[in-house]
Amino acid sequence: MIRHSRIYDVLYFTDVVYGIGILLLILATGWSGRMRDLSAKYARWSFVAAMLYFVLLSLVTTAFTFPLDFYGSFIVPHQFDLTNQSFAGWFGDFAKGLGVNLVIGAPIAALALLGIRRIRRWWIVLWLGSIPLILLGVLATPLIIDPLFNDFRPLRDASLRQALLDEASHAGIEQSRVYEVDKSKQTKEMNAYVTGIGPSARIVMWDTLLAKLDRDEILAVMGHEMGHYVLKHLWWGMALGIAISFLGFWIAQHLFEWGLARWGVRWSAGSRGDPAALPWLLAVSSLLAFLLSPVYSGYSRHVEHQADIFGLELTHKNEAMASSFVKFAEDSKADPRPPRFIEWWRYSHPSLGRRIDFVLAYKPWEKGQPNELWHPPRSADVSSAAIGASRPDGWTWR
Ligand SMILES: [Zn+2]
Repeated sequence: MIRHSRIYDVLYFTDVVYGIGILLLILATGWSGRMRDLSAKYARWSFVAAMLYFVLLSLVTTAFTFPLDFYGSFIVPHQFDLTNQSFAGWFGDFAKGLGVNLVIGAPIAALALLGIRRIRRWWIVLWLGSIPLILLGVLATPLIIDPLFNDFRPLRDASLRQALLDEASHAGIEQSRVYEVDKSKQTKEMNAYVTGIGPSARIVMWDTLLAKLDRDEILAVMGHEMGHYVLKHLWWGMALGIAISFLGFWIAQHLFEWGLARWGVRWSAGSRGDPAALPWLLAVSSLLAFLLSPVYSGYSRHVEHQADIFGLELTHKNEAMASSFVKFAEDSKADPRPPRFIEWWRYSHPSLGRRIDFVLAYKPWEKGQPNELWHPPRSADVSSAAIGASRPDGWTWR
């Protein structure tokens, strides 16, 4: 578990340095300028040329980062017996992922370059433009992107479905959907998550989780997920992302234009709206995203802890929650007590060791103390069995 976790800690920092290094190499060798000239030769409109340039750049960077991707998402999981996926299956997912990035990324990059070329304070325009894109991404990903890789279906186990209906009505969830997904084709690890907004909002359980956890553990884990849902963590996360990126875009414009003024001619990327300058913008953005990651992961650990509290107050299943974490750690071969610096910098969840310590100790109801986050909804006495029966398909929680 420790060895497995250290590999990914090292890979995380290596990926950032290597990724930025590749972008700088593409600039310094003049490849960026040559790819720009090539795209301009085949496309009449500058917008299409910019999209073509983005496709070329993505193919080159993907070729360079492929060994690290292959090692991290194919070799290591096989070494640690975390997957049975064939190379063909893995490569199919990899190619699909690249295709999705090209189709979505090319028009966005071309639009961004257009804004940078035309508008002096382009950082504000790019920041404003990122807001509807984030919303659209969260709305559409579960409906359009995720089904490209896996099959999502309503939870099949009728008695578990009923137990979850009861739990959801206790949690105060009026309307939601719960799906199971065939992740076992990619991994032996287990997970569950909340995603989507409005019509795409849902809780998803990996089939591996359904196979490995017992009923109490599933209800405890789902109490945690319902906490995310009820406490609107997705919305708060998006708001924080938008607020932080306001600062990020401002710094990015300054760094970007400073670098171009200094090295632009050598990179044959003279003007700021030139596609050939895009690798520099991407390098600046990755550096900023990397430096800001402790802020975002700190926020994420905070809401994960809240979801643990909510789940416990809702279910009182402390031991089941703890044993599910033990299974998570063993199953995903995650170091339960990683170095504090690593946890602080990049962990989206508190370490499993500290979560286990916490959930075994947190029982305010035994001391007659009030709950912090979960309060019984007023309609909790309404028979949830009757509500469930009104939805024969059963996977809509009402
Ligand atoms: Zn969570």
